[in-house]
Amino acid sequence: MAKQAPQSDPAQDAPEVSAPQHAAAGLPAVGHSLRMAAEQMGPRRTLATLLKVNQPNGFDCPGCAWPEPDKTHTAEFCENGAKAVAEEATERRIRAEFFAAHSVSELAERSGYWLGQQGRLTQPMLLDEGATHYSPISWDDAFALIAEELRALDTPDGAAFYTSGRTSNEAAFAYQLFARRLGTNNLPDCSNMCHESSGSALTETLGVGKGSVSLKDLYQADLIIVAGQNPGTNHPRMLSALERAKRAGATIVSVNPLPEAGLERFKNPQHARGLVGHGTKLTDLFLQIRLGGDLALFRALNQLILDADGGVDRAFVEEHCHGFEEFAAEARTTGREEVLAATGLPWEQIEELARLVLGSRKVIVCWAMGLTQHKHAVPTIREVVNFLLLRGNVGRPGAGVCPVRGHSNVQGDRTMGIFERPSKAFLDALAGEFGFEPPRAHGLDSVDTIRGMRDGRVKVFFAMGGNFVAATPDTEVTEAAMRRCRLTVHVSTKLNRSHVITGARALILPTLGRTDRDVTARGAQFVSVEDSMGQVHSSRGGLRPPAPGLLSEVAIVCRLARAVLGPQDSVPWEDFATDYDTLRDRIARVVPGFADFNEKVRRPGGFTLPHGPRDSRTFPTATGKANFTVNPLTAPEVPAGRLLLQTLRSHDQYNTTIYGLDDRYRGITGGRRIVLVNPADAAELGLAEGAYVDLVGEWKDGVERRAPHFKVVHYPVARGGAAAYYPETNVLVPLDSTADISNTPTSKAVVVRFEPDSGER
Ligand code: SF4
Repeated sequence: MAKQAPQSDPAQDAPEVSAPQHAAAGLPAVGHSLRMAAEQMGPRRTLATLLKVNQPNGFDCPGCAWPEPDKTHTAEFCENGAKAVAEEATERRIRAEFFAAHSVSELAERSGYWLGQQGRLTQPMLLDEGATHYSPISWDDAFALIAEELRALDTPDGAAFYTSGRTSNEAAFAYQLFARRLGTNNLPDCSNMCHESSGSALTETLGVGKGSVSLKDLYQADLIIVAGQNPGTNHPRMLSALERAKRAGATIVSVNPLPEAGLERFKNPQHARGLVGHGTKLTDLFLQIRLGGDLALFRALNQLILDADGGVDRAFVEEHCHGFEEFAAEARTTGREEVLAATGLPWEQIEELARLVLGSRKVIVCWAMGLTQHKHAVPTIREVVNFLLLRGNVGRPGAGVCPVRGHSNVQGDRTMGIFERPSKAFLDALAGEFGFEPPRAHGLDSVDTIRGMRDGRVKVFFAMGGNFVAATPDTEVTEAAMRRCRLTVHVSTKLNRSHVITGARALILPTLGRTDRDVTARGAQFVSVEDSMGQVHSSRGGLRPPAPGLLSEVAIVCRLARAVLGPQDSVPWEDFATDYDTLRDRIARVVPGFADFNEKVRRPGGFTLPHGPRDSRTFPTATGKANFTVNPLTAPEVPAGRLLLQTLRSHDQYNTTIYGLDDRYRGITGGRRIVLVNPADAAELGLAEGAYVDLVGEWKDGVERRAPHFKVVHYPVARGGAAAYYPETNVLVPLDSTADISNTPTSKAVVVRFEPDSGER
């Protein structure tokens, strides 16, 4: 029997600190997975469900977007995958009585952890204007209410349609079609906050905004550089791939301001050596770089490659690249002092890495938020591409770019058209297929949507999944902006903070999850997702839904569209809602690479999308070639007496979903309001171990943003930096502090000062 939802809110934070760990997974991971799963699902459901995740004919893990190997293991999931599944497949339920017992203002005082632990939503709920509590509403009335608010807008751009990366391909395609038939490109998504910088840089330099490597490439690489990423917590099955590469002779280099257990050693629970032995040492060379120093590092490496005899793959550069001379001229101006100041690394380490690169034929660079959430993120990733192009490491087996996506279908949603800046080709195809002229003006991304709500231009906010107010920066500004809306709507499986920060009216529309069976009048339906490596495959939930009458994401979009666009709208929304094959047939004619979608998605393991740079060294860029770029060396500046804070996840967290209050690998238990500071910096700043402080964010707008009551933890972070968890520290990230070009919040680069604990909570 599953454990009851916690009544009291344990978030009165009392973190305990012990020594950080130096190995990931192993028996403890098995123990934690099964314990947390059984707490939510009970033993029998745990077994039935976990043996189906990431399996052929099973369902796709609602966690990250790491791909499945060709041959899946019986237990093809990691600890955090088990937690993600358990959170969704929990036996806990939220019914109307819960909302009758808890006012919205009372729920707003509760922690995100407590809200999420209450269970699955079971019926549509309305918070009417002036009401204090949510109350039940029928689906038809809910759709009619949304239609009424949308029709009352002066312009379709008065609405924004947000997507979280859990939304399936089928739901995402129908959703963008609905928004565009309504007349807007306001399609912000969670990618705006995470890999938008990667998409911008890769599209400009290679012509495709996605990774170019497969698992097979990782297994045969000579050198794998993991930069600004913590796979042990955020993409744990990647450790299996790194272990396999390592055992095949690869060298692994990690570049990170924090020493992360998952990059040091991996105890693979799928093997005896991982359960009882020492596991596998992963990282051969650890570069503990200063926050935001990656651009300088790759500039220095490129200079060393240019200066080395035979360092450059001339044949590749001449045949496939554009802009080499300008790039090389700039690279040769890279000053060693600037590099040392920006990276905080000893030059010898940079030279050692350059030697490893020059001794390798097949090099892969993997990265995540540590590169993408900085002001200079796009130039940094462009410089990583320069680094790979120099030695022809694109379009070669065992080599390439590997931005590792954080949400299970965030890449698929973008492929389906969830983008505020759609390409002309995509809109032309949509127009041709559905016989209408879609809006051509670019829409609002996530940061611009917040600005739009703040300024009263966006009055209706609709979210397909996610937890927008917790995932976005400048919490006080975002929450106030959300409250300015006429209507806020969330399609969700679980309760979260975004449900209690509402517009004048608010709706919660409960939907089926990945683990749930989806049966329509035309029989059992399945959906599809695209992983981080461009593999599209099916996902079939098998559990009885948490309540009768729950609608799938696809059905919600299609019924909403009919309610808003009216009976005369020619799109067969009803067919789409009851037979997803009909939707996939239309996707096949609009989205490149999806021809014969229904046949290909039914193949074991699905199919791989084409990728010109990988498949044939063809680069659909403005020049028709791979573009070298010039990226002036820059790094964050931090005034004296301040540190540069990065927001990050604990090991018991997935995006804004808090599974528990521990961060086992870092030695933190029972709480989340901690700030990790290097002992030498702490000494200089007078920050005693265990002292409580307020973090005060400083930015050029002169606004002081405060995050109160954080426990100081002396931790081996790189000098000059500090680290604390989000969403608690998103309040410190200024809305207007975004990456150039991609507009991604700079959540890895917040200048903070420390003040004595103000007692605020
Ligand atoms: S690695 Fe990612 S996708 Fe795979 S089981 Fe873990 S959380 Fe899920």
